[in-house]
Amino acid sequence: MSGLAKDITPPSSGAPMVKAEGVHKSFGLAHILKGIDLEVLPREVFCLIGPSGSGKSTFLRCINHLEKISAGRLYVDGHLVGYRQHGDKLYELKEKEVAAQRRDIGMVFQRFNLFPHMTALENVMEAPVQVKRESKAVARERAQRLLDRVGLGDRTGHYPAQLSGGQQQRVAIARALAMQPKLMLFDEPTSALDPELVGEVLDVMRDLAEDGMTMIVVTHEMGFAREVGDSLVFMDDGVVVESGHPRDVLTNPQHDRTKSFLSKVL
Ligand code: ADP
Ligand code: MG
Repeated sequence: MSGLAKDITPPSSGAPMVKAEGVHKSFGLAHILKGIDLEVLPREVFCLIGPSGSGKSTFLRCINHLEKISAGRLYVDGHLVGYRQHGDKLYELKEKEVAAQRRDIGMVFQRFNLFPHMTALENVMEAPVQVKRESKAVARERAQRLLDRVGLGDRTGHYPAQLSGGQQQRVAIARALAMQPKLMLFDEPTSALDPELVGEVLDVMRDLAEDGMTMIVVTHEMGFAREVGDSLVFMDDGVVVESGHPRDVLTNPQHDRTKSFLSKVL
């Protein structure tokens, strides 16, 4: 399963694909992200682990404009997320500019969120046609190719309800790729799957990684993190507790909180 590279947009500069500087996020009085600093390099598979409620999803949602950060700076591919900087002043981007930034980021959720009334092919074609105003012929050709790549070339006419959870999640990945993102965010993409279906989704993610896609993966699949990940961050209670190469962090954690978490999931 190679050749996804064709659908991967190279980063526009050598800068980090994602850079967070002192990122905070509060919901009312609840202080959720408490100063996140990290860098995700182009082509990197960046794994994010941590206990439930530590702020992992919130962080991904900030990258993808689903939430607005409360303080700090967040950059994607060298561009400030949601703002334009002019001198030392910041201006909020207009809706259209936000939409343009979001277009470059693909996101895959725990729940597949496919459109139930559309076939697999139509699901994958939808955004390029509706958002990018691409011709149906071009969108269909790419959708077909992407579904082939995720191993579903023979399921293009199936509706979500006719597909297994693993197949639906692979359609969801193909759908995100159809927008030719430069960054893919995965939020526990296999957590809702029956155990026997996890492998087929991780295999697709591994292929994507081999083709050079920049990926941030929130996961409890430590095997995947160890084998495919380039970096790993352990987050707890809204802070980065520990980071490094996945093998190092997983086999030789330095902090008690990391040790305690890993002893529960490994
Ligand atoms: P994780 O993905 O690591 O499990 P989340 O980012 O989903 O953690 O959540 C972190 C904390 O933020 C949780 O306590 C959650 O209840 C809270 N939270 C998330 N979204 C909202 C929201 N929209 N409003 C209020 N609290 C929220
Ligand atoms: Mg979460």
